[in-house]
Amino acid sequence: TKYHVTPEMLDDLSKESFPPCMKNIHENLRKNHHLRHYGRLHYGLFLKSIGLSLEDALNFFRQEFIQKVTPERFQKDYAYNIRYNYGKEGKKVSLSAYSCNKIINENAPQPGDTHGCPFRHFDAEHLKKFLKSCNISEQYIEEMLEDVKQKSYTKACSKYYQAKHNHPFPAEELYHPNQYYSESRKFFT
Ligand code: SF4
Repeated sequence: TKYHVTPEMLDDLSKESFPPCMKNIHENLRKNHHLRHYGRLHYGLFLKSIGLSLEDALNFFRQEFIQKVTPERFQKDYAYNIRYNYGKEGKKVSLSAYSCNKIINENAPQPGDTHGCPFRHFDAEHLKKFLKSCNISEQYIEEMLEDVKQKSYTKACSKYYQAKHNHPFPAEELYHPNQYYSESRKFFT
C-alpha cells in the first residue's frame, strides 16, 4: 500500500478513500489553513503512512499554514514537528499513525480542535451534518446513529465505508484509519 501520494491528490483521495476522522481534519485544514497540535499529529502521521514524502508533507502544510502565519513562523514552529514525525528530528524514531482505539479513547478534542473520531466526538446534530456533506444517504445515517448510541464507533465507520463503496468493509474488524484507507484503495484500483 506504500505507493507515492502527492499533495495535489489529497482533495480527491479525502472524498474517495479517507475515513471520516482524516477527511474531517483535511477539510478543516483547507478551510482554516491551520491545525492545532493533535490535528497536525494525527493527520501528519496518517499522510506519512499513505505514502506522502517528507518533502511533500512540508510543502503541503507550508502552503496552507503560510496563509495564516509567516513563512518564518512556519519554519520555526511547525516544520520541526513534521520532520520529527518522519524521524528526522529529536529521537529520530519514525512514529506510527494512530489507531482507532487511540483516536477514540485518548486526548478527546477540545473546542477548536479538529482531531478525534467523528462517531465518538461529534454530537448527533454535528455528525448528521457532517455525514450529509459526505453524501451519505438518510438510511445509512440513521443506522450509524444507532451504532453510535451503542458506542459501536468502528462499526458505524465500517457502515460509512459500505455507504461510500456500495460494498461491505472487507475485513472482519476496522481498527485503524490507514487500514480503512488501504482497503479503499484496493477496492478502487
Ligand atoms: Fe477514524 Fe477509526 Fe473513527 Fe473511523 S472509527 S473515523 S477510522 S477513528
